[in-house]
Amino acid sequence: MSQAAPDPLPSPAERVSTPVDGVHVVGALSPSRAGDFVTCPLLYRLRTIDRLPEPPSADAVRGTLVHKVLEDLFDLPAAERTPARAGEMLAPSWEALAEAEPELVALFDPDPAGRADGGPPLDFTHWLASCRTVLERWFTLEDPTRLEPAERELYVETVLESKLLLRGFVDRLDVAPDDGALRVVDYKTGRSPAVGFEQRALFQMRFYALVLWRTRGVVPALLQLVYLGNGEIVRYEPDEADLLATERRIQAIWEAISSARESGEWLPRRSRACDWCAHRAICPAWGGTPPPLPDQEPGSPGSPGSAGHSGSAP
Ligand code: SF4
Repeated sequence: MSQAAPDPLPSPAERVSTPVDGVHVVGALSPSRAGDFVTCPLLYRLRTIDRLPEPPSADAVRGTLVHKVLEDLFDLPAAERTPARAGEMLAPSWEALAEAEPELVALFDPDPAGRADGGPPLDFTHWLASCRTVLERWFTLEDPTRLEPAERELYVETVLESKLLLRGFVDRLDVAPDDGALRVVDYKTGRSPAVGFEQRALFQMRFYALVLWRTRGVVPALLQLVYLGNGEIVRYEPDEADLLATERRIQAIWEAISSARESGEWLPRRSRACDWCAHRAICPAWGGTPPPLPDQEPGSPGSPGSAGHSGSAP
């Protein structure tokens, strides 16, 4: 089985108000945070309620940088969307990223003591070359000179009947010019999961498909996961029954999260995810002790965010 990359921490958009105003929600959920809870309830708590910082990893930053280049590449005229041009975009995109998040530079500190994750020193040139390799692999899978995405890095959200807000970012949305069919595309810089282990990634895609169905009134025709780590594409054609089942699944996850909030019991669940969890040192499953729960849980019943307008809960 290939190893999945860790989910990023809640993005700023998951922490602040969203464009939907005037709708009172019971909470909000993104695919990443739902996945956290399913993987390990304590991990969800530490990321979403405690909001403990996590050191950046080389893999996660590679993903951010490659996504940025793939997004910006479509600003160019079609004929200029070449592997060489994409490669040239890496260095300036990195500079912009490092300026916005200066702590990322520490990843390449030759002194291991200077690295927040305590990992071995990383060679920047080598790492940047690995980003280029990943980008070049994308050109073997898709031809951007023949693509005109309708949307890139599209923020999507909807409120379910239960008043749970669903939200997330879609890497790319293609709309067929002839019949308006939607294709939802997500880039993964890691390797594709082994057969039988695709469900978590597909859950994320079904989540987006559900939100798009609710907001646009049409079930996306195709969900496409593009794995740049090993050059594979996973495609899935959802239907209404699929997406209704996804809605029930999301609702059940939210109810389990709500129960954990009420009881204060966020149980650790040991798995392979522990191998890259940033919180092992404070995890009781590994002999550690987590901090006390914060007094005021962001997004919890009674806190300023939860019962207010949409988008304020994690
Ligand atoms: S180390 Fe494992 S069990 Fe502990 S919080 Fe992280 S993922 Fe959960």
